Amino acid sequence: SIPLGFFGGIGAASRSGILIKGSNYLEALNDVKTVVFDKTGTLTKGQFKVTAIYPAEGMTEDELLRLAAYAESHSSHPIAESIVAAYGRSIAGNAVADYNEISGHGIRAAIEGRTVLAGNARLMEREGIAFRQPDGAGTIVHLAVDGQYAGSLVIADEVKEDAARAIAALRKVGVNKTVMLTGDASSVAQDVGKRLGVGEIHAELLPQDKVEQIERLESGKTGREKIAFVGDGINDTPVLARADVGIAMGGLGSDAAIEAADIVIMTDEPSKIASAIGIARRTRAIVW
Ligand code: ADP
Ligand code: MG
Repeated sequence: SIPLGFFGGIGAASRSGILIKGSNYLEALNDVKTVVFDKTGTLTKGQFKVTAIYPAEGMTEDELLRLAAYAESHSSHPIAESIVAAYGRSIAGNAVADYNEISGHGIRAAIEGRTVLAGNARLMEREGIAFRQPDGAGTIVHLAVDGQYAGSLVIADEVKEDAARAIAALRKVGVNKTVMLTGDASSVAQDVGKRLGVGEIHAELLPQDKVEQIERLESGKTGREKIAFVGDGINDTPVLARADVGIAMGGLGSDAAIEAADIVIMTDEPSKIASAIGIARRTRAIVW
């Protein structure tokens, strides 16, 4: 039988907006020494805004934004949603054919008989398209039409107000190692990570690279030590499953992430992770 104290701990957590899916996870939280974060939607708001449009020769801003919005219209990625919102007009459901979302890269779709690519530098490299890197901070989405470079959009996200607090609070509960994993560009990752005081930053990762990073950290553990991973997106599901303790940001997180996680933070506050560890400590003190 499960000691009553665990129910107390799980109840206390749920009253704080932290859903713990079993007493074993509450127990495991006690031994978490490393917390690994996804960036987008976890430490940042994941609410991107298009801040600049750079059409290539022969392309207009309007046409570039329209093609980008069409290409992204079937994606639920926060980058995609920001482009569709910036376009602001309705998109016919049948305007896009052969839609293909390439994880960690972007989109390939057929629009009005043309093949449109919308995604990062890695997507352009993979498709052999010469691109120009625009100035300025932010995530860059490059466009290509029928193999020709068409220009780029700059998209900016904001750091969550609660994120710096989250890293500091973790240090107070004895989590000395914080790591950020992201598929985003290194420049964006360094900017966010340094501002928040994250210890280790790994950028330009594909979903499977994130799993490898967790496996690397898992293999370096000693004793009872546990590793927690915190994520929000569909892409994060394999990583959530691989970590000792998978934590989903449930506020705006995807259903798949919430389902794959052991613990769900029901609000959008990553500082709740330190609160959960605090509750785990107090629960252990009662149970033993
Ligand atoms: P994160 O690790 O920050 O959550 P993802 O793994 O979801 O990021 O995506 C990594 C990168 O892949 C993004 O920063 C972006 O450059 C590119 N990307 C992914 N999905 C899309 C999309 N729908 N449209 C354009 N670019 C995308
Ligand atoms: Mg994410």
